[in-house]
Amino acid sequence: MLLGIERAVIEDVRVELETIVVSVRPKAREKHRCGVCGRRCPREDCGEGRRRWRALDLGTTFAYLEADAPRVYCKHHRVVVAAVPWARHDSRFTIAFEDQCCWLAVNTSKKAVAELMRVTWRTVGSICERVAEEQVAQRDLLAGLKRVGIDDFSHRKGQRYLTVVVDHDSGRLVWAAPGRDRKTVEKFLDLLGKERCAQLELVSCDMAESIALAVAERCPNAIRCVDPFHVIQLATDALDEIRREVWNQARRAGHKQAAKELKGARFVLWKNAHRLTERQHRKLAQIQQTNKPLYRAYLISQQLREIYRVSFDEAILLLDAWLAWARRCRLAPFVKLAKTITKQRPGIEAAIRHGLSNARIEQVNTQLRLITRRAYGFRTPQALIALAMLTLGGLCPPLPE
Ligand SMILES: [Zn+2]
Repeated sequence: MLLGIERAVIEDVRVELETIVVSVRPKAREKHRCGVCGRRCPREDCGEGRRRWRALDLGTTFAYLEADAPRVYCKHHRVVVAAVPWARHDSRFTIAFEDQCCWLAVNTSKKAVAELMRVTWRTVGSICERVAEEQVAQRDLLAGLKRVGIDDFSHRKGQRYLTVVVDHDSGRLVWAAPGRDRKTVEKFLDLLGKERCAQLELVSCDMAESIALAVAERCPNAIRCVDPFHVIQLATDALDEIRREVWNQARRAGHKQAAKELKGARFVLWKNAHRLTERQHRKLAQIQQTNKPLYRAYLISQQLREIYRVSFDEAILLLDAWLAWARRCRLAPFVKLAKTITKQRPGIEAAIRHGLSNARIEQVNTQLRLITRRAYGFRTPQALIALAMLTLGGLCPPLPE
């Protein structure tokens, strides 16, 4: 009971040095089952003999389960180590131990999990992988999808990419895989299957062709929307380009103080105007006085956010006005952005018409980036995906009872 073991017979309990070792065996009904599929199979051999599984600590004392680990012959999986009721296949930890690890990985700091559970962060990564894989297999996360967002983001300084799929209705992450090309998106569409592809009503993504083409081909009924998040991101990038330019000019001209202030202004300019603190407002007022082009760029980028805050009809009027303004603003990055937005206009308008909330998309994106940072130290991108699915896919197991 203390160790949370069920469907097993306890044979012996002994204390070895600082640890408690409990000898167990599966109940007769649980014996000789394939470790992969759980079917009853004939016994093959004794495998590598006795094996230990780390269980939840008893107070501060380490606890282990010990049992035979015979191998069985499964028609489908050949020779495999027999399943045990207290642990997942191929794991050296009990189910309760792994569930608790995952719960902590999702809900607490990296340091807390590793120190409390007395395992390395890498091990936490492989535990997350195992548990997420099991949870994904048990549920159908792709059932009933109607409105999804497909996005990619880099998880290692602009080198490696993940493609993620978010359900717009529940806000949950439903699928993720390494890569960001058309093939990766097609893997998702394959998994979804023809019928469910046809049921997709709306697919939102960035402005890249790779996703758009695959979706256009495979999802005949889906309207393609451009994620508001990416539109705003482009405006932020254009603004930043101008800030950097102005900063470089100031630096070259020897205006040390001005250059320093501009560098510090970065976050003020990036931030949503509705969320500025009083000090940030003052900083902005200062930019308005001393740096006209930068302030103009700021206003243009903020104005673009407005189109996602008003009704559809108003948004169309605002977008027209915005485009006219941006085209004539004599700030090269925004002139270029106006061109991009004109080209992508149908997708941008569709997002507004169908009420894609940018707040939610941005939130998932921010969370993914935080998880990516936490996953640093994991061995594989699969472990990162697992942690993301546990956290944002609603797959995290409850704490063991
Ligand atoms: Zn099997």
